[in-house]
Amino acid sequence: MSKKSNTEKRVRVLVVEDEESFVDALSIGLDREGFNVSVARDGQEALTLFARESIDLVLLDLMLPKLSGLDVCRSIRNVSDVPIIIVSAKGEEVDMVLMLEIGADDYVTKPYRLRELVARIRAVLRRREVHETSTPVDEVIEQGPLRMDIDARRCFVNGEEIKLRKKEFALLRLLLENPGRVLTREVLIDRVWGNDYVGDTKTLDVHIKRLRSLIEDDPKAPTHITTVRGVGYRFELTKPS
Ligand code: CA
Repeated sequence: MSKKSNTEKRVRVLVVEDEESFVDALSIGLDREGFNVSVARDGQEALTLFARESIDLVLLDLMLPKLSGLDVCRSIRNVSDVPIIIVSAKGEEVDMVLMLEIGADDYVTKPYRLRELVARIRAVLRRREVHETSTPVDEVIEQGPLRMDIDARRCFVNGEEIKLRKKEFALLRLLLENPGRVLTREVLIDRVWGNDYVGDTKTLDVHIKRLRSLIEDDPKAPTHITTVRGVGYRFELTKPS
């Protein structure tokens, strides 16, 4: 992983967090990874800082003094589509579907490893870059053992081609384009099938099952396409080697 040179603009992350121990660890860790860090210790301060500074990504704790993380997320979304990653404490009853619906890009659960968090941050930023640049020619997506050639409509696992039906291809593509991100069942169904979706909600699961049988070493213990119970599916980020 190459560090960005000093002449390049550093990404500014707004850390919204009221627990001192987390603030310290994050500030030091993210700075070391090449990010500029601003810290807000409550929801109100988060909005003030966001309005004042040029923030590239928001790392947003849910339980905050003054304004909750959800309120902060909604307020920011009213004025900006800056990437937002929600941070929730373990055991907290979190409605992940709601969070994604109000515009969060991703979420992580405390306690997390800094490495995992940084991978998520980079994935979210990469996704934004992809969406903001012009349509690529000869688009190829690579994640872990997978390689998808979008134009040629071909897919390879560890270099070996697998044959995918149309919807399977679309589903896998959507998952691969959003590595590390939970995609809700609703989003997957809407984006892959749209109005074509017939039958019960099992159709999605059947397709996931078939994809797993093709790409997973052990389809019963998937490590690439994982289930997020009650929410949807996620294509796991490749572990840094
Ligand atoms: Ca908190």
